[in-house]
Amino acid sequence: MKKYIFVTGGVLSSVGKGVITASIAKILQARGYTVTTIKIDPYFNVDAGTMNPYQHGEVFVTADGGETDLDLGHYERFLDVELSKDHNITSGKVFLKVIMDERAGKYLGQTVQLIPHVTDEIKREIRYAVDKSGADIGIVEIGGTVGDYEGLPFLEAIRQMRLEEGFSNTVFVHVALVPIIETTGEPKTKPLQHSVFELRRIGIQPDIIIARCKIWLDDDTKRKIALFTNVPPDAIFTAPYVDTIYRIPLILDEEGLGDYLVSRLGLESRRPEFGEWCSFIENLLNPRDEVSVGLCGKYVKLKDSYLSILEALNHAGARLRVKPRLVWIDAEAIEQGSRDELEKLKDVDSLIVLPGFGTRGAEGKIRVIKEARELGIPFLGICFGMQLAVVEFARNVLGLHDANSTEIDPDTPEPVIDLAPEQKNVDKVGGTMMLGNKPVKIVENTLAHKLYGTDLVYERHRHRYVVNERYIEKLEKAGMKVSGYRADSPYRIVEIVELRDHMFFIGTQFHPEFRSRPLRPHPVFIGLLDAALRFKYSSRSK
Ligand code: GLN
Repeated sequence: MKKYIFVTGGVLSSVGKGVITASIAKILQARGYTVTTIKIDPYFNVDAGTMNPYQHGEVFVTADGGETDLDLGHYERFLDVELSKDHNITSGKVFLKVIMDERAGKYLGQTVQLIPHVTDEIKREIRYAVDKSGADIGIVEIGGTVGDYEGLPFLEAIRQMRLEEGFSNTVFVHVALVPIIETTGEPKTKPLQHSVFELRRIGIQPDIIIARCKIWLDDDTKRKIALFTNVPPDAIFTAPYVDTIYRIPLILDEEGLGDYLVSRLGLESRRPEFGEWCSFIENLLNPRDEVSVGLCGKYVKLKDSYLSILEALNHAGARLRVKPRLVWIDAEAIEQGSRDELEKLKDVDSLIVLPGFGTRGAEGKIRVIKEARELGIPFLGICFGMQLAVVEFARNVLGLHDANSTEIDPDTPEPVIDLAPEQKNVDKVGGTMMLGNKPVKIVENTLAHKLYGTDLVYERHRHRYVVNERYIEKLEKAGMKVSGYRADSPYRIVEIVELRDHMFFIGTQFHPEFRSRPLRPHPVFIGLLDAALRFKYSSRSK
C-alpha cells in the first residue's frame, strides 16, 4: 500500500507550505524511504506557462517539459530528484480532462458532476503520479488557503482518499500562520483555530499542525491549540523563521516531526541521515568572501520571479564559500533613461541578464549587456538574456545597427534572433514552446567546455526564438564563439555563445538554474561567481 501525506494551508497564503512540504519529504527521505511530491494548484490555467511572474512567481520547467509551479523547484532541490509534469495538478488540467472525456463519450448516459467525476479524476491523477514515481510515500500539497472556493474539490478528493486508503496510510498536515501581537509579544492562535474549524466542517480532521510563527510555541499554547483542534500537543510543531530555508527539515526533524510521522504511518523507525546537507548549510551561512551580482530583468520587484536563479547562486556560493550579494537592476527603468539604475553597474562584480519575453525592457537589457561587454564584467545571459547579448554584439561589434530579435521587431532588416524553424507553424500559446530537456553538444576548447568538462549535456529549455543560422559565421568571425549546439536537430540551433576577448561572458539558450542542487551546484553558476571573485580583485576601471 502507498502512503499519502496531504498538506493544507490556513490563514494566509505564502506561509511557506512549499518549503514545509519539501521538508517533510526530505525528513522521510533521510530515513531511507522513497518519497515523491505533488503540488495541486486550484487555478483554471492548465499549467503555469501562461501566467506572468507577478501573478505566479517563476515558472519552473521540469525535465519532461512541464511548465509548473515554483514549488516543484523546492521539491527538486530538497530531494535532488527529477519530477515530471504529472506532479503539478491544476483545476484547469483536471476539468479539461473531464470535459474531453465527456466529449469522447466516456461518461455516456451519466450526468457529469463535481462529485464524483471531478473528484475521481483528482484522485486518479494523484495516484497515477505517485505510482509512476515508484515512491512509497506521496506528499501532496494543496495550494491556496482552506476556505477558498476553488480548493474545495481537492479537499473533497483527499477527504475521500482517507476512507479509500485507510487511516494508517493517510496523514493530514495543516500548516497555518500564528501571528504575534507586537504590543504583548503573544502568539495568537485564533486564526489557526478557525482554519481548522473550516477543515473539519468539510470532513477533514488534521493529524498534525505546523504553526508558522516567529517564536517557538510553548506548551501552554500547544495545549490551547490542541483543545480547540483535537490535535494532540505532541503533533503540533513550530516552523520558525530561519536564516535559510534549507534548515527547515533539520528543525522540524529535531522537534520530532519525522518520528511522529513514521510511527503514525506504521513505518519502521529509522535514524535520519542528512549527510552532506548539514555541511552545505554551514558553507552557505559562513562565506569567506562576498561578490555582488547584478540581476537585470523586468520583474525585479518580486524576488520569486527568478527563484531558481537565486537558489542556483546560493548553491554555487556555498560551494565557493562566497556570498552572492544581489543588486537588482530594473531593465525598464534603464530603458526610460534612468542614470541611477545604469550606475548600479559600476558596483557589480558580475551581471546576469534574466530570462524574459516581449518588447518591454528589452532595450534596457541590451544597454546593460553593452556595459558588461565593454567593461569586462563577468556576464551570464540566460535565454532571453543570451538572445539579447547576440543582438547587442550584432549591433555594436558587427555594426548591424538595426539588428534585433523578431520577437521585438518583426520587421527588423537584420533578424539575428528569429523564431525557431520548428516553431513556425505553431499557433496555440499554451505548452507549445520548446520545453524541457534537450541534448546540447559542447564545442571543445571553449569556456563552456572548461566549465562542463564534458561533450554532451542535457539542459532544460523554454523558448520559441533562436539565433538565426544565417548569422553564425559572421558572429564567430567577429569574436562571438558558438560553444554549444542542440545535438538532436537537423538545424544548427545555437545553445551557448561566449566572447573570446572577455574573462567570462557566456549566454545560454537554456536555463541552467533548473538543474542546480544544493549539493550539485551548476557549473555555469560556479563559473560566474568564480569569475566575479577574480574580477573583484582585478584592477577594474571604475
Ligand atoms: N522570449 C524568448 C523566446 O521565446 C526567451 C524566453 C526565455 O527567456 N525563457 O525565445
